[in-house]
Amino acid sequence: TILATTMGGQEEEEEEEEEEEYLFKIVLIGDSAVGKSNLLSRFARNEFDNNSKATIGVEFQTQVVEIDGKQVKAQIWDTAGQERFRAVTSAYYRGALGALLVYDITRRSSFDSIQRWLQELSTHCDISVARMLVGNKCDLENIRDVSVKDGKCLAEEERLFFIETSALDSTNVQTAFEIVIREIYSNMSRKLI
Ligand code: GDP
Ligand code: MG
Repeated sequence: TILATTMGGQEEEEEEEEEEEYLFKIVLIGDSAVGKSNLLSRFARNEFDNNSKATIGVEFQTQVVEIDGKQVKAQIWDTAGQERFRAVTSAYYRGALGALLVYDITRRSSFDSIQRWLQELSTHCDISVARMLVGNKCDLENIRDVSVKDGKCLAEEERLFFIETSALDSTNVQTAFEIVIREIYSNMSRKLI
């Protein structure tokens, strides 16, 4: 929470809690340069940055999504370069209810790393975490290095949702985040019953 408040979590602390308000923490993980930061900026601000530089430290953005007429706040965390040094801290994962595991469809090694990211996620988070496998950069079909089938197979094996996205041309970005948010919401509703 120290990181969260210093890095821009203004709203949550000050606002009075309303009965029907939800805050879901979701983490973006995956190798460096797969497009995590651009997926987040596309989702939260509808922006794409060709030369996005890795900032040091942890950052998140809050996006409000309406589900079943309820305002749900998705607090989406971006590793902001930590993953380069394999130093994603446990604070990053703490309290996460959802995760987007991102690879680059033009870079096989980033797909092969997903197992390691899954393992890391499982050491920090509950098994009930909503997990989505995201094959990003699907606009680069001509230099594809990971087939859709390979993505689907891994997702089935590991019981993940699966989607291919492009932060560049906006394909499926909204959908990727919304599926995870909806899944968290329905997990939670199930627990309440
Ligand atoms: P991160 O290190 O995972 O946060 O990756 P970034 O978001 O910084 O993106 C790394 C590089 O990939 C940047 O040069 C982006 O412009 C580029 N990039 C990100 N998403 C896409 C995409 O969907 N399509 C294409 N063609 N390039 C992308
Ligand atoms: Mg980044």
